[in-house]
Amino acid sequence: MAPLSEIQIRELKNLVANAGITFRENSDLSVHCSFKIGGISPFIAEPETREQILETLSIFRKLELPWKILGGGTNLLISDHPNDFVILKLSGGFKEYKDIGGGLFEVGAATNTTPVFRQISQKGYTGAEFLSTIPGWTGGAVIQNAGCYGGELFDLIEEVEFLRNGEILKRKPSEVEHGYRSTEFLKKKDSIILSIRIRLKEGNLEEIEASLKEKRDKRNSSQPENKKSAGSMFKNPKIFDETGKEIKAWQFIDRVGLRGTKIGGAQISPEHCNFIVNTGGAKASEVNQLVSLVQEKVEKETGVILEREVEYFGSIP
Ligand SMILES: Cc1cc2nc3c(=O)[nH]c(=O)nc-3n(C[C@H](O)[C@H](O)[C@H](O)COP(=O)(O)OP(=O)(O)OC[C@H]3O[C@@H](n4cnc5c(N)ncnc54)[C@H](O)[C@@H]3O)c2cc1C
Repeated sequence: MAPLSEIQIRELKNLVANAGITFRENSDLSVHCSFKIGGISPFIAEPETREQILETLSIFRKLELPWKILGGGTNLLISDHPNDFVILKLSGGFKEYKDIGGGLFEVGAATNTTPVFRQISQKGYTGAEFLSTIPGWTGGAVIQNAGCYGGELFDLIEEVEFLRNGEILKRKPSEVEHGYRSTEFLKKKDSIILSIRIRLKEGNLEEIEASLKEKRDKRNSSQPENKKSAGSMFKNPKIFDETGKEIKAWQFIDRVGLRGTKIGGAQISPEHCNFIVNTGGAKASEVNQLVSLVQEKVEKETGVILEREVEYFGSIP
């Protein structure tokens, strides 16, 4: 698609400013994601309320602008030239959570999962400890049905609040199609997650602290520390050996000898080969070349098709 014109952006800026909605122009998207890769976005709108989201979308529609929603940017590979769409990033009240009582919490879509689920756990409630090790925002975690260590977000959800076709809807998890690292929201891309209600059980604080520590330690020992990445690049293909043990995506990548392989600034992590890391100045196109190399070699040599978990944000050659 063609880059947006200066005239389009000027018109957009006027309408968004007149509506009292916060925005940023010419933002370096590499600072909005954990891979630290991405070019300059012409415009990011940051609505703070449900009304402001509706107003922002109506402006985008009026000007016929393609748009995408960005959360914590921890599951994305952002284009080197993200100039053919505008961005919506939730702010304000969406960054908060409420303790409703009795183990019920309402969590805004723009809350940071790691600190929020640690705080909630430390109030003496158990079940959400695993979420304190997953980076990103709650809305992104809903879309993806984020999970680890045997737990996934949809196990805890009582209700999801989202915007679809101009309507604010609330659904129980049984009314939302979801599975391993997937939901109907991810497939259809037709909704904006606003908040979730989760219910947790009361627990013993000492045991909760021990569980938080155990999960943190497990993560620190199994993942490349302080590296620029978007986490696991491929979904585990759900293949089991003759003893019934799962063979993970990283084992296939290791098996075909790609551990540590580098293209430009992008590298298959020598420590955890389902991670691709930005060793400095990597381009999205270089990460994409590594992704294609892994998929082709693994399929050719083992017959297994590895599906990407990390999403591409904008076009990447
Ligand atoms: C070091 C590391 C470890 C990780 N470990 C795990 C793990 O153990 N388990 C796991 O599941 N994931 C893991 N991830 C991936 C990532 O943290 C999760 O998928 C996270 O939940 C993504 O949230 P986000 O806010 O960063 O989403 P983003 O990356 O910003 O966006 C992801 C998708 O969600 C959409 N989106 C974001 N917010 C909204 C919203 N409010 N409404 C509608 N759509 C929205 C975006 O448009 C995009 O399509 C890891 C990532 C890193 C970097």
